[in-house]
Amino acid sequence: MNDPFSKLKTAVWVYDIDNFCISWANEKALELWEADSPEELRTRDFKVGSSDAVRSSLLDYQQAFRRGETRGEFWTFTPKDIVKKALLIMSGHVLKDGRMAMLCEALTLDLIPDMELVGSTVMMSSYQLDGTFISANPPFKEDIGSEDIRLDELIVMGSKLAQIYTSLESSGQFKGDVLCRRQGMEVWYHLDATLSSQDGMKKILIHQYNIHNRKLQERAFEKDSHTDLLTGLLNRRGLFDRLQSYRDEKKHFAIFYLDLDGFKMINDSFGHACGDQVLKSVSARLSATLFSKGHACRFGGDEFIWTCGLDELPLPIDVLSDKLLNAVSHTFYGEFGVPMDVAASVGSAIYPQDGITTQEIISCADAAMYMAKRTGKRRAVCYRPGMEKENKRLGILAQNLSQAIKNRELSLHYQPIYHVGTNKIDSYEALIRWQCESLGYISADETIRIAESTGLIHSIENWVIRQALQDLKEFREGSDDSIRMSINISGLHLAQADFVSSLEEKIIQAGLKPQDVIVELTETALLDGIDDEDSNVNQLHKLGVGISIDDFGTGYSSLAYLHKIPADVVKIDKSFVEQVGKDSRTIDYIHRLISSLGKTTLVEGVETQEQKEIVQALGINLHQGYWFSRPQSLMFFKSQPISPRVIEIG
Ligand code: C2E
Ligand code: CA
Ligand code: CA
Repeated sequence: MNDPFSKLKTAVWVYDIDNFCISWANEKALELWEADSPEELRTRDFKVGSSDAVRSSLLDYQQAFRRGETRGEFWTFTPKDIVKKALLIMSGHVLKDGRMAMLCEALTLDLIPDMELVGSTVMMSSYQLDGTFISANPPFKEDIGSEDIRLDELIVMGSKLAQIYTSLESSGQFKGDVLCRRQGMEVWYHLDATLSSQDGMKKILIHQYNIHNRKLQERAFEKDSHTDLLTGLLNRRGLFDRLQSYRDEKKHFAIFYLDLDGFKMINDSFGHACGDQVLKSVSARLSATLFSKGHACRFGGDEFIWTCGLDELPLPIDVLSDKLLNAVSHTFYGEFGVPMDVAASVGSAIYPQDGITTQEIISCADAAMYMAKRTGKRRAVCYRPGMEKENKRLGILAQNLSQAIKNRELSLHYQPIYHVGTNKIDSYEALIRWQCESLGYISADETIRIAESTGLIHSIENWVIRQALQDLKEFREGSDDSIRMSINISGLHLAQADFVSSLEEKIIQAGLKPQDVIVELTETALLDGIDDEDSNVNQLHKLGVGISIDDFGTGYSSLAYLHKIPADVVKIDKSFVEQVGKDSRTIDYIHRLISSLGKTTLVEGVETQEQKEIVQALGINLHQGYWFSRPQSLMFFKSQPISPRVIEIG
């Protein structure tokens, strides 16, 4: 050894492992070892005071150095009882006589600014194969607080100890983070255990570092990085990990994608703090409904995903979707008790039936959710192949619909409602028609669904009302001026606070009376606020506008509530008329009930003379259907003032 080492900033020395002495040291090393001279240092006997654990470790290292390996560990030295810590880089050095010594380079505290690391001095201990303690270095004794501890006392978990033994048996070593007992507490260490065999005796050598703080931070971070901080549910990353494990385990699973309806409105009108409360309340409701199975995740702003292995699904998928929907849908009371209705749309998909990759399967559930939104919200839809294409079409339609009024693509057709007793037209029902410029003719049902899902329903129905009232005056011209106009109104539109006053205004503007107008509402819309004296339906009734219950028998079949609904006319759905040829008892029964409540029965969908006659014989006089007339334009009726069928009947 010569000069270059003397000038090094780090302490460097050669340790003669077999003779327990330092055979050479540079100046920095003399400082580190508190030595007066190289000679004094050379004469120190390191066998005295060193533990079996340290001596055994060094003998093991000697083997490792022969294989060309190096070691790096934090050691604590106590030359002349002064405690010093340093990171020791150890490598092999062949002495002149051919023996393998250890070349040490020590990076002392002043060279390593990171104090955290310096805390983790290597603790060494050795044990017999049955776990009996042999020896330990001073840092071990100081840290663990014991002079003598069995391996099974040191390691907290029996299962971990078994894992260490298995690993030592198969590969001669174990490396891993292990929870150990330390002065009555449980503390994390990184353990590096080797099976060492010296002098024909096998023993276990353990080097360990305290990593407790780092481990706790890591675990907190791991949890945080998988957890949504607001709701405590899994976050995106947590979900992806979960799904990946399902796939690794070759497990089939279902995904339910929930998106809150109208959350943006809550956020915008009541503030983000309120929005956060809503999200928390939704998460709590979700968690409470999930039968402690599967995993719930907040996927984004107001989007949630619940996933569960197919073998653990507590209920069939469609029933579950509805359950999730109902769980999330509730009235949330904000500050000052302001009620907010929270609802959601749910889409579900199944792995691997609907998609192979995690991304694919989520996209399928998303497409189904989107379909649920597009087709009326507060619904649950299962994924079907081709849904993405349908969604695209619906997206284009939604865009086009907003321009439809301006582009004059909307028109109205009218279908007469006949009174078969007087042979007169009682009223016309206005039915929307949309000739979309890019996608052609769109059915009325679809048009209305899109209008409802995009919030365009109000402006579109307002257009319908104005147009229909104007056309009613045309119908009346030169004919019966008792003819009325029946207009379909969506439940969403009816719920608008100013619906009644706005309708009244339009009636007045058209120079008509409330009695000239009938509003057709479905059972679902009518049942909303049924006990509220001041509900929009009751206000309409008081105003004098006629009210018809549309599609009666297809909704919640509100026979039990019928007496509470202020309707004049009940339109029995066309599906009942289809059966009258075979059995007319159902329609007869419904008609009697309607009559007993003082309301008038109307039958829709009369397509044949036979149907017309059977229904008429039951005493039902208001008829509507293709037998009398298909829906036609105002122009059509104006050019043929009297329907051919009426002439026939007459
Ligand atoms: P709805 O209110 O039940 O209207 C009657 C529907 O039955 C009309 O379909 C009509 O063409 C059809 N129909 C009439 N007679 C017969 C028949 O004898 N046989 C058969 N098979 N069908 C017959 P359309 O025009 O396609 O309208 C479908 C639905 O769209 C309407 O059902 C109504 O719920 C909705 N709708 C149409 N216009 C509006 C509107 O302005 N506002 C709202 N909210 N809904 C509307
Ligand atoms: Ca109708
Ligand atoms: Ca109907």
